[in-house]
Amino acid sequence: MPPLPGELVFKAPKKGKPPIHLLDLDPAGRRAAVVDLGLPAFRADQVSRQWLGRLSDDPAEWTDMPAPARDAIEAALLPTLLTPVRTIDCDRGTTVKTVWRLHGGALVESVLMRYPERVTMCISSQAGCGMNCPFCATGQAGLTRNLSTAEIVEQVLAGARSLARGEVAGGQGRISNVVFMGMGEPLANYRAVVGAVRRLTEPAPAGLGIGARGITVSTVGLVPRILDLAGEGLPVTLAVSLHAPDDALRDTLVPVNTRWKVSEVLDAA
Ligand code: SF4
Repeated sequence: MPPLPGELVFKAPKKGKPPIHLLDLDPAGRRAAVVDLGLPAFRADQVSRQWLGRLSDDPAEWTDMPAPARDAIEAALLPTLLTPVRTIDCDRGTTVKTVWRLHGGALVESVLMRYPERVTMCISSQAGCGMNCPFCATGQAGLTRNLSTAEIVEQVLAGARSLARGEVAGGQGRISNVVFMGMGEPLANYRAVVGAVRRLTEPAPAGLGIGARGITVSTVGLVPRILDLAGEGLPVTLAVSLHAPDDALRDTLVPVNTRWKVSEVLDAA
């Protein structure tokens, strides 16, 4: 349902949540999940090395593992989370936008942007958004649900696989930067976003090994969560979308300003 003017939604609806995925788990959690399947713990590192290190999403290529182990892990821990609905490219194929259908039917989008010196993925952290900025189509649609850590990381992995396969104009490449500037307010989905930043930055087999300084978390100014993020020990870049320098104007453009004022946001940043 569309939000009322100025209404803020911080608590996301629970419905439509995706099944658990390997990327929701840290290395210890993955080992425990694999042991629960009756397999030796080291299979978790093997599958992580394939999925995150070699960017292989085809179990038939995992020839370092017996087929029954591959099948069991795929069935239990690698559900399909993102289904492409539409892809649009521009800038001679160096900018690629994809609309994804999530478990439960919600739609989100990600954009791969290739520049001479870097490749940036712009990703979504929520389906819809509860921050209700009146100029923003996503905000006007309201908040459908939070994305899981794995759904966030899989957007980056989809871009990474496509680059590794040479499918993006300019030939093979790697993702160097990730910006949380797609759909959603990342700090309103704090736990999943911090989990995703850890997965993106930790070296393989734990994660994708992207430099933390290449990751930008963008917020409209959720002050308590900015302070929490500062305490995580993650040297990511914080971007604050101010849109207006004074409280009177910002109250109208960014409704969360009625909760935390410009000076509080700047102090926290
Ligand atoms: S926080 Fe961002 S995504 Fe959410 S309504 Fe505002 S501008 Fe749109």
